[in-house]
Amino acid sequence: MAMNTATSAEPMVRIEGLRKSFGNLEVLRDINLAVMPGEVVTIIGASGSGKSTLLRCINLLETPDAGHVWFHGADLAAEHVDVNRLREKIGMVFQGFNLFNNMNVLDNCTLAPVTLKKMKKPEAEQVAMRHLEAVGLANFAKADVNNLSGGQKQRVAIARALCMQPDLMLFDEPTSALDPEIVGEVLEVMRGLARDGMTMVVVTHEMQFAKTVSDRVVFMDKGIIAEEGSPAEIFGSPKHPRTREFLARYL
Ligand code: ADP
Ligand code: MG
Repeated sequence: MAMNTATSAEPMVRIEGLRKSFGNLEVLRDINLAVMPGEVVTIIGASGSGKSTLLRCINLLETPDAGHVWFHGADLAAEHVDVNRLREKIGMVFQGFNLFNNMNVLDNCTLAPVTLKKMKKPEAEQVAMRHLEAVGLANFAKADVNNLSGGQKQRVAIARALCMQPDLMLFDEPTSALDPEIVGEVLEVMRGLARDGMTMVVVTHEMQFAKTVSDRVVFMDKGIIAEEGSPAEIFGSPKHPRTREFLARYL
């Protein structure tokens, strides 16, 4: 039992002194953040504050200029680290779905497990059907992706990511491209994932979701973490004037 506690006290993701610039633009300026196993961390902040860049640094879609990102204790910048292997354990869901539009739903879900994990096609399909079932889309397995609604596409994107059996799921404004009436079906799937214990980092403007689902809320402002805390702290008594100003727009 004591051993268990010690193990679970190890962050799944640890970010230290992370910096990233694009040309003269300093987008991330000394970011420090740890995400514990099973934790749901939401990142809020104005457009341009660096939220997407931070997520992209976590799975090395962007290369940091300075600082470190550790995943399961491995420094992603270390030369001997098999980045692809680690990245397989990190699922990402984007605002724009990023599905393969020339494939049906099931093939979208089996492609990575078959090509990257060398899973046999029938097994990959079994796994995929389980996840499609969980997001309510088992009946759409053979459907053309182009014929799905935005909410269905995003649920496929989540199922597809889960097919790689990730330890960590990153969400970058997963509902921002959706019509208001279908936002809920995607948030419901995410809420279920959180309930099942998935470790999640979620960039979102859905404050109700941030308030009710996250363990911790991070407010980013111009490339720094201006404030972080429990939902009660951030939404109930934000300390930083910029946090208050930002949240006031959502009242
Ligand atoms: P957010 O997700 O909070 O809106 P981003 O991380 O997307 O912020 O972007 C932060 C800033 O970095 C923005 O000013 C954006 O234009 C800029 N930026 C992001 N990616 C690139 C890139 N690949 N090249 C140049 N500028 C970029
Ligand atoms: Mg963004």
